[in-house]
Amino acid sequence: MSLNQGRSYLAIPGPSVMPDAVLQAMHRPSPNIYAGDLIDLTHSLIPDLLHVARSTQNVAIYIANGHGAWEAALANTVAPGERILLLATGNFGHGWADMAERLGAVVDRVEFGKRSPIEMQAVADALAKRKDYKAVMAVHVDTATSAKSDIAAVRKVMDDAGCDALLYADCIASLGCDDFRFDDWGVDVMVTACQKGLMTPPGMAFVYFGDRAAAARQALPQVSPYWDWAPRVDPDMYFQYFCGTAPTHHLYGLRVALDMIKAEGLDQVFARHETLARAIWAASDAWGQGGPLELNIADPAHRSHAVTGVRIGAPLGTQLRDWCEHQAGLTLGIGLGMAPPDDPAWHGFFRFGHMGHVNAQMIMGLVGTVDAGLKACGIPHGPGAAEAAAGIIANATAPQTTGAGTQITG
Ligand SMILES: *Cc1c(COP(=O)(O)O)cnc(C)c1O
Repeated sequence: MSLNQGRSYLAIPGPSVMPDAVLQAMHRPSPNIYAGDLIDLTHSLIPDLLHVARSTQNVAIYIANGHGAWEAALANTVAPGERILLLATGNFGHGWADMAERLGAVVDRVEFGKRSPIEMQAVADALAKRKDYKAVMAVHVDTATSAKSDIAAVRKVMDDAGCDALLYADCIASLGCDDFRFDDWGVDVMVTACQKGLMTPPGMAFVYFGDRAAAARQALPQVSPYWDWAPRVDPDMYFQYFCGTAPTHHLYGLRVALDMIKAEGLDQVFARHETLARAIWAASDAWGQGGPLELNIADPAHRSHAVTGVRIGAPLGTQLRDWCEHQAGLTLGIGLGMAPPDDPAWHGFFRFGHMGHVNAQMIMGLVGTVDAGLKACGIPHGPGAAEAAAGIIANATAPQTTGAGTQITG
């Protein structure tokens, strides 16, 4: 028997759950792309996109996924033969650095392994050896490991070392989920995409850049015309925003998604993600008391609030994911880059995606379903996971005046 009929829940770290309001805004006839509402709507996105990243500078929109934003960032700032320092905290940093190499850059890599964030002493040591980098490349949240790194601290180490490289941040998994401050943290180039914290179907990507990055673009002998960000942020004609036809329906969807973020308030969006993440971690800690389940990142301060990587041992990760998908309508994320795909150990990992349009009942459903899956699959685990998650959610939401929050136990 299977119990998976009903609304399914894709709890992978992107694409994320799409709000019905976003989908409904996209369900319309094709708009005029030469005049009318679409033009005004597009202009209106720019300040709100900047706000989500706490930036007052520039953002270019691309019809692309995150990989497109990676290439756009490189195409505008790095010439063949120039040197980049990658601070690698998982799969995604290496993917971006591989792309830089294919575009002719020379990449030095500092490896932090699969279970830790960027450690500043190692960055300082690397910059003590040489500092003639064009860019230092960091991933705010590496979606494979779920490690979150301190981007402001990277800038400080660069400043202290006298390194004037551009600082790149990949916020594809973190924007709209974890607090990120483009201006305050001294970031020069930030890449993101619409299908994770921004709750819109895959297809749009964004490159944020500041004055130093704009100057680097001006100094390049040539920039690939499609990826060139200059006309996109200062278009004489509407089509230059996108170097061609606008992503019409995505723009309507994104407008609604950004309205939802604005209406909730950015600080509240981050607080919601943090509380729901903590509920998943509390449940995981309870499971881990009596079995092999363990969070990939030990220190909560270094964990993403949008994705949580889990180790459970092969083949239990795949068994549990299969059970959740086929018996309960819940799709969990695969373990990415933790072991080679042809290695049996690959089956020992999974990830919870909890980014964007998620609320308390969805996370309680997620926790309860995984608990049932552990039981159904005969995987040893400690008791009390749902109670632990409920306690986190109750404590964060209990009316202050009654003191009910302090009475909750378990
Ligand atoms: C999802 C993701 C990417 C890749 O984005 P695509 O849209 O799949 O190209 C890159 N970096 C991070 C951190 C991501 O989470």
